Amino acid sequence: ESIALGELAKRMGIKATEVVAKLLRAGMMVTVNQTLDIEDAILVAAEFGFEIDRVGFEEEDLLERVVDQPDDLRPRPPVVTIMGHVDHGKTSLLDRIRKSNVVDGEAGGITQHVGAYDVRLPEGGRVVFVDTPGHEAFTQMRARGAQVTDVVVLVVAADDGVMQQTIEAINHSKAAGVPIVVAVNKIDKPGADIERVRRELADRGLVSEEWGGDTIFAYVSAKTGEGVDNLLELLGLQTEILELKANPGKSALGRIIEARLDKGRGAVATVLVQEGTLKNGDNFVCGVHAGKVRAMFDDLGRRVDEAGPSIPVEVQGFTGVPEAGDEFAVVESDKSAKRIAEHRQMKKRESELASIRKLSLENILDQLKEGAVQELALVVKADVQGSVEALVESLGKLGNDQVRVHVIHSATGAITETDVMLASASNAIIIGFNVRPQGKVAEMAEAEHVEIRNYDVIYQMVDDINKALTGMLAPEF
Ligand code: GDP
Repeated sequence: ESIALGELAKRMGIKATEVVAKLLRAGMMVTVNQTLDIEDAILVAAEFGFEIDRVGFEEEDLLERVVDQPDDLRPRPPVVTIMGHVDHGKTSLLDRIRKSNVVDGEAGGITQHVGAYDVRLPEGGRVVFVDTPGHEAFTQMRARGAQVTDVVVLVVAADDGVMQQTIEAINHSKAAGVPIVVAVNKIDKPGADIERVRRELADRGLVSEEWGGDTIFAYVSAKTGEGVDNLLELLGLQTEILELKANPGKSALGRIIEARLDKGRGAVATVLVQEGTLKNGDNFVCGVHAGKVRAMFDDLGRRVDEAGPSIPVEVQGFTGVPEAGDEFAVVESDKSAKRIAEHRQMKKRESELASIRKLSLENILDQLKEGAVQELALVVKADVQGSVEALVESLGKLGNDQVRVHVIHSATGAITETDVMLASASNAIIIGFNVRPQGKVAEMAEAEHVEIRNYDVIYQMVDDINKALTGMLAPEF
């Protein structure tokens, strides 16, 4: 391990000649073109108040990110998350889809809980369902940098229509740029009113194809099973439009869907493979843990030897329990895996000490100048609907050539944990109007470094944002 003096100087942002001069004065005989071994480099860097992070230089080399060529890409199944308002039938629909997919005799496997189901479509093809319905988990993953969902199935009960969490689900999906397929559920119920659901969703920008829009609607009953095959078929169609592809011919890269400590088997986790193919015996690094694939199981509890893109597998062989959303990457050797994991553990301790810089009204101008942000994303919560509308309207008039003001979610009611996760995932600021964060929400916002600004006068909020965008905002104490 060594580094050229010139390179070291460059990384410290100091002229090479200055480095040489200082070292000469300190009695070290060096030249600009000299290569320093790592021990010397550490000493030299220390002279300038820098610390060399040895493993840091290696991590990217060890991870060997392959750039895919178009020829390497193959179609892959879509990964779907079911969202919708509570009690509208998300769990029932998922159960129904799963049961219809389990052939008799495999029923023993149905108790298996791996966090994602690999469903085979009647006319061929597959769809993978993530088994944590709801936008909270979806956005929490996103806040951790993990986007696993290709398509959202939005469940709306035909007897209840669009409700608060339906709207949240729509906004969270849109913020993530994930297309929505609507499943109007409970069509077996006497009070079912499909027209009403179509109308209410059209008001939210989801216009059904029957009405000349481009949102796919399916009409189902999770209870009787009616329409479920059609929903799967439509998902197949939606997938063809998306042309999802990945390279199966390389080392696997994926994300943790869920993980737990099993009494007999140690740390086990469900990995959703996103690129490449995961094989038994592969060495990997995942979050701050290293490991080796000792055994893999599919969603029906059957042992498998490998898993390609979009396929969820339960993996044994972790040295510790990873977190949902962690990246899972296969590396060449167990030595590399351990080095990266150790390095990340160190980094994690460091970043727990230093606070991470998220967007705030005070630093937005700096972040704009650095090109770190192009828009000011906002989550708006207010006590009454009239205020929400007034706020959104005033905000719509703000912004300038450099920055766009974008309200990604607005609703009445207190600021919730879900709002904080959405803001965190989208690098947004929360505006509260006559509402305050509930219970633990303020703590969570602090942990996530999400700024919450509270107002009770609209023009004051407008004023603050204008000032922030022009660099005039005084710090808030
Ligand atoms: P979730 O909260 O969205 O996961 O909703 P659940 O799947 O738990 O369903 C809530 C309730 O609605 C349960 O009592 C289900 O039995 C019922 N339910 C779900 N789907 C249907 C359906 O298609 N028809 C009828 N009649 N009831 C349903």
